[in-house]
Amino acid sequence: GGLGELDGHLIGCRACPRLVAWREKVAATKRAGFQGWEYWGRPVPGFGPHDAPLAVVGLAPAAHGANRTGRMFTGDASGDFLFAALHAAGLASRPTATAADDGLELYGVRVTSPVHCAPPANKPTPAERDTCRPWLAAEITLLNPRAIVVLGGFGWQALLPVLSDCGWRLPRPRPRFAHGNVVTLRRAEPDAARPADAGRSEHGGRAADDELHVIGCYHPSRRNTFTGRLTSPMLIDLLHQAAHLAGL
Ligand code: SF4
Repeated sequence: GGLGELDGHLIGCRACPRLVAWREKVAATKRAGFQGWEYWGRPVPGFGPHDAPLAVVGLAPAAHGANRTGRMFTGDASGDFLFAALHAAGLASRPTATAADDGLELYGVRVTSPVHCAPPANKPTPAERDTCRPWLAAEITLLNPRAIVVLGGFGWQALLPVLSDCGWRLPRPRPRFAHGNVVTLRRAEPDAARPADAGRSEHGGRAADDELHVIGCYHPSRRNTFTGRLTSPMLIDLLHQAAHLAGL
């Protein structure tokens, strides 16, 4: 099956009791200002084309953002900042994202996260992170991206083991998160695990799929954007660089 089938299974997942309870409680109580919304309240699948050579990976859906709208990063301040930058970098059809049916299209990029349900205080437990890990591993395997932008240190910590599950060799010592840091991974077993016809000219003549570029980026959280730690030009620059590494 492809990514559509994977997403269809994902949205029925109830493997983490604490997160199931939280996502449904938030969906039932709602926040003032969103009382008219029917909250999604389920696992949030990745958003973007199924053949995107670039992935952007956060950490988990926000309670009143993606857990409300049902689309990754859609409906919260971090997402507003991210989608505006994706648009400025030529990777999105418009600068705003408000609802799953707002018509926004992404070009060559898919946004997703290592944990697919909104966690209390935006903090999944290590056990929840591990439980959700196979979903992202399956998504990355099917997507087979050339480059991944990782938003924030928690996302970085969560993503690296997923990439190891996908057959990428992690350098030792394990690379640390830093904004703008590019780590290029190679296959653990270069001749196994590779689909026979992967890496052909599917994405405009991109290189054979024996390299994956992982790029650290500060998370576009309010704390980072209000303080100027992450500015729009910084994020746009980094997305341009990532798109280039992805062969876009
Ligand atoms: Fe399932 Fe992941 Fe949600 Fe846990 S966080 S219930 S594993 S989709």
